Amino acid sequence: MLDDVIREVCSEVSGDRVLGDTREIHCRDRWFTTPKFLESAGYAAGRLKESGAADARVLKFRADGKTLYGAWRAPLAWDVASARLTVVEPAAMAGTVLADYQAVPCSLVMWSGPTPKGGVTAEVVAVGPGGSETHYRGRNVRGKIVFAAERASAAKGLAARRGAVGVLSDYLPAAETLPDAVFWNNAFNDVPSAWGATAGGSGLFGFGVSPNVGRRLRRVLAAGGRLKLHAVSDTRLHAGPLPVATGSIPGRQPGEEVLVLGHGFEQGARDNAAGAACMIEAVRALDALIRAGRLPRPRRAIRALVTNECFGTIGYVQRHRRRVRGTVAALCLDEVAIDVVTGRAVQGLHANPHSNASYVDTFARRLAEAVWDGRHFNPWRMLPYGTTDNLIAHSTIGVPTIWVGGCGASDIWHTSADTPDRLDPAQLEAAVAYVACYLYTLADAGAAEARWLARHAAADAQAQLHREAVDAAAEVAAQPKAGRRRIAEGFAARAAYLCCVHGKAVRGAARLARGAERRRLDADLLALVADVGELAKELAADVRAAAGLKAPDALAVRSPFRTVSHAPGDRVRPVSNYLGPVTYDPIAPADRAGHADPRWGGPVNCALGWANGWRTLNEVVALTEHETGRPLPDLAEELHWLIGKGMVRDAAKSRRRRS
Ligand SMILES: [Zn+2]
Repeated sequence: MLDDVIREVCSEVSGDRVLGDTREIHCRDRWFTTPKFLESAGYAAGRLKESGAADARVLKFRADGKTLYGAWRAPLAWDVASARLTVVEPAAMAGTVLADYQAVPCSLVMWSGPTPKGGVTAEVVAVGPGGSETHYRGRNVRGKIVFAAERASAAKGLAARRGAVGVLSDYLPAAETLPDAVFWNNAFNDVPSAWGATAGGSGLFGFGVSPNVGRRLRRVLAAGGRLKLHAVSDTRLHAGPLPVATGSIPGRQPGEEVLVLGHGFEQGARDNAAGAACMIEAVRALDALIRAGRLPRPRRAIRALVTNECFGTIGYVQRHRRRVRGTVAALCLDEVAIDVVTGRAVQGLHANPHSNASYVDTFARRLAEAVWDGRHFNPWRMLPYGTTDNLIAHSTIGVPTIWVGGCGASDIWHTSADTPDRLDPAQLEAAVAYVACYLYTLADAGAAEARWLARHAAADAQAQLHREAVDAAAEVAAQPKAGRRRIAEGFAARAAYLCCVHGKAVRGAARLARGAERRRLDADLLALVADVGELAKELAADVRAAAGLKAPDALAVRSPFRTVSHAPGDRVRPVSNYLGPVTYDPIAPADRAGHADPRWGGPVNCALGWANGWRTLNEVVALTEHETGRPLPDLAEELHWLIGKGMVRDAAKSRRRRS
């Protein structure tokens, strides 16, 4: 089914075009100010229009430091006229420029506040890492510049509360390999786990220097010398726009779309000017193939969304609810490019969260085998869900989405070294070929393709059940008799869980058909799911037999976690009050002390994916433990705390109130 599409797409896409647009986007975004982001959004929309997206335009959301997009507090808009950090003392170094925004934009912390006109001269106090109260003990930083080894964001709130005027950081994760690069500090809120500067925060300025410059400064301080710097941060924090760009190629069937999205508006070429450039080239190539009659016009529209990470995406979901409901699948591009200078990176394909399991997980893998292993070499690996703009895959939004990103750390991530010259057109061509094939195939899929996709998803389910049964049987064999029952029962629960996850993935393909075809497809896919269930029962019985237990009466495949006790966790049926994964931004900083913000991962958002208002709190915890593969003894308490804070509600309570 894929071959024709892959052949046509591969003959049309161009890695050189991707690199060209990457350069254009990067030369705007590398300044990371609101005016430059507006310019960049205009460029992306213009290129989408030229590439065949007739409706391409810039959408504006709010960067006012107040508005909540889902549970994500929008940052303030920000502009820079100039910024520079110069040595005053010691005399031997006087006049040395340590940081200049014009020369290296990353040397200014994003959302750095303004200094008084003419700048400010202040002494530097090194505080070690700078992210904890203890780092400040016995040090007077009032009126001074705090020098932190951690990210500037880790120190900002602590420094502000102690009367410091600014923060200097020489943090860089790959200090060994890139000693002259400067980290891009793109978080600067008084609450370290929050993100951008928001309304009412302190207006500290912030600078970043390379590890090598940091070492020189530390040597001066270690020798007992005084380090005095002159800082000019001519910046403006204000309420302004938060732009995103979008445009689509029309399909034959109104009301349905396939989406490719990823953030622009960051300073790096790999992260993520290349992602935006891939969207533009995928749209251009597909439109050209459709116009030339080499590919038929697909059933569904194909839309690109160059977004502002997370804020813009949830803003888009809120503003275009009906369109998002008609979005059958998506692909998220964030770090599709590989840094060929170090050459260590591998492409990561991040699956959907289990609570929103989808046949597209299987499709993404099959397509990688066909495009990347078959035609264009690109090392890749399937990975579990992680959060970026694929947050639309969270069950509270529900669009099945694969994130094509990195795998493990990249040295140049969020540094001044993330420039277009480290990218390779051949690798970008492989990436964009994959993107265009994914979009077109799902945009044009009907009942026949849905059957094919569902069959492959069911085969994946069966393969996983077999693999895990073999492991469980081996574990049983290695155990003394007393421990065998636990393993056999553990496998039965796991098999039931896998049936629940994969069953949703298989049935989801029915969405690709309509009318009578849809009804026939629904019935066929249910039969496939039943086969997976039968296999699970057989394998669970085999493992029990291996453990010397008799076969169970039945395996509750449909809802293995339904509980009937009157324990408190069985009366509460939680559901999130927010669209998408949550952050703790809506909770007052003092009230969230001691609670790790779940913004970028962890069990809370995984649990809120399962929490649909019908599952009990205990079921939600059990499902989350299965998904994360570890016991979560504190999760129930955290969910109760979120109910207390009004971020999650107990749907059972509201139903009781209504009846
Ligand atoms: Zn990114």
